[in-house]
Amino acid sequence: MISRIEQRCIDKGMKMTEQRRIIARVLSDADDHPDVEEVYRRSTAIDPHISIATVYRTVRLFEEADILERHDFGDGRARYEESPNEHHDHLIDMQSGRVIEFTSPEIEALQREIARRYGYRLVGHRLELYGVPLTPGDETEQK
Ligand SMILES: [Zn+2]
Repeated sequence: MISRIEQRCIDKGMKMTEQRRIIARVLSDADDHPDVEEVYRRSTAIDPHISIATVYRTVRLFEEADILERHDFGDGRARYEESPNEHHDHLIDMQSGRVIEFTSPEIEALQREIARRYGYRLVGHRLELYGVPLTPGDETEQK
């Protein structure tokens, strides 16, 4: 079985070694936003001979081919996800590190409007929200 990312690599004419195929599979299977260390942990669970240097190189290669998207969620570690077909933004839980994906038509429209106001056509944006879980007190404080 060929993973989605492996297929995208093949489509771009990249040479696929066995180790690259494993890293491509790990990244295809990830539904979180793992950093390189985590990709390395998951890859070596399949093939213990994969080195961290190979993971770094491969991830950079995939990123340069626009197959992976790199994110910075404020903790200084680069996180990766397969470049999505549909745009989404991220909400980061600062306590657990959990990353929630969301889309907002209102935010998208507002951003286009702001760009237009300054004489630009919007071609892209990055948006990360950082939060902590609401506690019962938070609701009353806001009023
Ligand atoms: Zn995402």
